[in-house]
Amino acid sequence: MSRITLRLFTLVLGCVGISSCNSAKSYEAESARIRAKLDAIPLDEKVQFTNDEWKYILTSLQYYVLRRKGTELPFANAYWHTHENGTYICAACGNPLFSSEAKYDSGTGWPSFWQPIGGEAVKAASHSSFGGSEITCARCGSHLGHVFDDGPKPTGLRYCMNSVALKFVKAPAK
Ligand SMILES: [Zn+2]
Repeated sequence: MSRITLRLFTLVLGCVGISSCNSAKSYEAESARIRAKLDAIPLDEKVQFTNDEWKYILTSLQYYVLRRKGTELPFANAYWHTHENGTYICAACGNPLFSSEAKYDSGTGWPSFWQPIGGEAVKAASHSSFGGSEITCARCGSHLGHVFDDGPKPTGLRYCMNSVALKFVKAPAK
C-alpha cells in the first residue's frame, strides 16, 4: 500500500467511525430526552407518546408487545411463576397495574391476575379474536394482554398478561 492510499484509507475509516459515533450519541440523547419527558408527567396524568417516541425507550420485545399488540411465549417469560409480594407496574409508563395479592397460578404459563390494582389501572376493549377482551394500560394506552371470564372467585376474571409488558416492584421486607 502506498503512503497516499494508506492515508486515504485511514481518512475513510475515520469518517465512518465519527458518523456512527455521532448517530449513537444522538440516539442516546433522544432516548434520555424522552425518558425525562416521561418522568416529568405526574402518575395521575395520561401519557400520549407516538410510537416513534416509544421506540427510543422500549426494548424491541417490549415494543412488539406493548405497541404492536404482540404476545410473548408462555412459560418462557419473567413473571409467570413469580410468587413474591409486590406490585406489577406498566413497563412502558410505570402505572401501577396489579398487586401480587391478586396473582394466581392459572396454568397457562402467563402471569395471571383476578383483578387490577384499582378501577382506573387498566382498560378493557371489545372482544378480540382470542375470545377475551384486550387489556390496555389506562395511563399510556399500551397493550398488556387479555381478560377472560374463566378466572377464580371473587371476580371470575382472568387477566392474562405479558410479562414483558410489566415490571415487578418488590414490596419492602416487613
Ligand atoms: Zn402504561
